[in-house]
Amino acid sequence: MMVDNLKALQKQIPHHVKLVAVSKTKPVEDIQEFYAAGHRIFGENKVQELVEKYAALPHDIEWHLIGHLQTNKVKYIAPFIQLIHSVDSLKLLKEINKEAAKNKRIIDCLLEFYIASEETKFGLSLEEARAILSSDEMNDFKNIRIVGVMGMASFTDNTELIHKEFEQLRTIFKQLKQDFFGDKIWFNELSMGMSNDYKIAIEHGATMVRIGSILFGKR
Ligand SMILES: *Cc1c(COP(=O)(O)O)cnc(C)c1O
Repeated sequence: MMVDNLKALQKQIPHHVKLVAVSKTKPVEDIQEFYAAGHRIFGENKVQELVEKYAALPHDIEWHLIGHLQTNKVKYIAPFIQLIHSVDSLKLLKEINKEAAKNKRIIDCLLEFYIASEETKFGLSLEEARAILSSDEMNDFKNIRIVGVMGMASFTDNTELIHKEFEQLRTIFKQLKQDFFGDKIWFNELSMGMSNDYKIAIEHGATMVRIGSILFGKR
């Protein structure tokens, strides 16, 4: 039955937009159902849960970390993680680079931006991101690749505000691309949009949506 949710959602999402199925708090059996239907990209927000699910499931799943990441936990996911959506400091980039090198890998990362008007969200301001990207240390990070940006809109019924926040993230993306990634074709991902606002996010250029409840049901 859950597979029907996936099929219905796929019809709503243009082909160029990647669907990250957010499986946090859901059992591996649920993930297996989507896997059997051909879905391969799953997102988790906690390192321990992610590591357990990685061990229990087929290894051609593309795992994305979408939640806040502490530097001391990078080592647990470095061997297999495909994309870290939630990079919000130079210190964290440094640690990801170090652990990626140990595993002889290049790990793709998104810079997380603070766009919501709520207090509790993690993320960088444009100024902070500029400072990180201009720092000398960035040149030493041979084992990470910054492939785009991520953000969460306010949790609200005010669609006008959500439009504004996603447009703000697209502007940030375009400015960084122009100022820091002009020759880097891989800087191309705009991760925004969840169950309640993914349609608005796609209108504003999302290349990746992170959707949980629509697929797996309420948590
Ligand atoms: C939980 C979560 C999602 C998915 O939320 P839904 O409303 O269930 O679609 C997306 N992004 C992040 C960062 C999350 O923590």
